[in-house]
Amino acid sequence: MRLKCIKLAGFKSFVDPTTVHFTANMSAVIGPNGCGKSNIIDAVRWVMGESSAKNLRGDSMTDVIFNGSNSRKPVGQASIELIFDNSDGTLRGEYAQYAEISIRRKVTREAQNTYYLNGVKCRRRDITDIFLGTGLGPRSYSIIEQGMISKLIESKPEELRNYIEEAAGISKYKERRRDTENR
Ligand code: ATP
Ligand code: MG
Repeated sequence: MRLKCIKLAGFKSFVDPTTVHFTANMSAVIGPNGCGKSNIIDAVRWVMGESSAKNLRGDSMTDVIFNGSNSRKPVGQASIELIFDNSDGTLRGEYAQYAEISIRRKVTREAQNTYYLNGVKCRRRDITDIFLGTGLGPRSYSIIEQGMISKLIESKPEELRNYIEEAAGISKYKERRRDTENR
């Protein structure tokens, strides 16, 4: 499974609708300080369901909405869409039939969050569920940021175990068990 493109609108510094295509298996985002490189990574994490403002480098969850600049007024909502190529069949089950998977999240100033899976409204849970066990997800090891390597080295055994369980593909079963036990 490969990320094909990301569509940003009203998200942090990306006020105008912007599409970034990833045409190769490995891509690099380069640019001067403050141009929005980390904002793209925040966007990927956010659309996959990140629910901590701190992990998105903000104080509140609506801080991701473009809040104005010298020449532009703030906007009312932010939206991010990720399009994945699933032609290799990484996502199985009911998603195997789709060569492309689109996930989208929208948030308004009133902190109203809406999620979409292939254009159809869904729950946050539906989005986080499909990525469990794939190594993708808001806090998975697919996103390796500054400081992440030392964080891994310094992590407690229980934290390290979470990464190993995700890589082994068993975290989704643990999550389901937790869910059943809590019902
Ligand atoms: P560096 O090379 O220093 O890591 P970077 O390319 O990663 O820089 P980012 O942190 O992605 O830069 O972007 C920072 C810019 O995004 C700043 O100019 C900041 O003002 C802008 N920004 C962040 N949040 C918002 C927001 N909600 N509305 C408008 N602009 C925002
Ligand atoms: Mg940065």
